[in-house]
Amino acid sequence: MDNITKVFKEKKLKLTPQRIAVYKYLQSTKAHPSAETIYKSLQADYPTMSLATVYKALKTLVEVDLVQELNVGEGNFRYDANVVSHPHICCLHCHIVEDIEGITFEGINKDVQNYTDFDVYSNQVYFYGVCSTCKEEI
Ligand SMILES: [Zn+2]
Ligand SMILES: [Zn+2]
Repeated sequence: MDNITKVFKEKKLKLTPQRIAVYKYLQSTKAHPSAETIYKSLQADYPTMSLATVYKALKTLVEVDLVQELNVGEGNFRYDANVVSHPHICCLHCHIVEDIEGITFEGINKDVQNYTDFDVYSNQVYFYGVCSTCKEEI
């Protein structure tokens, strides 16, 4: 909460209740929801908030680095309030996206640098498989 207040003040952005609601919702979940999921989840508390407003709030939050946008290869993006670089795993069956904890790919940036003229700052690592729930159903 303090984080968003500080960042928005620094960037001279307006801290609207909608932007706070979207950020708080993302902080409360590890489910990496899409904009539609966030919109539906907030509808009860913010009945006047449109999907377009959710998209705009997400765009701003991504721009100020409070939220990261994930592209797991679906038609839409997923969002994560954990902006520290971490790998994700996606179920090919039910499309849940989870964090993989305990393994980092920070070292790979240096390795990659040996193969290119770029200065490498970050990477996005996605794994694909079948989750334990879906494994039982198949
Ligand atoms: Zn699954
Ligand atoms: Zn994540």
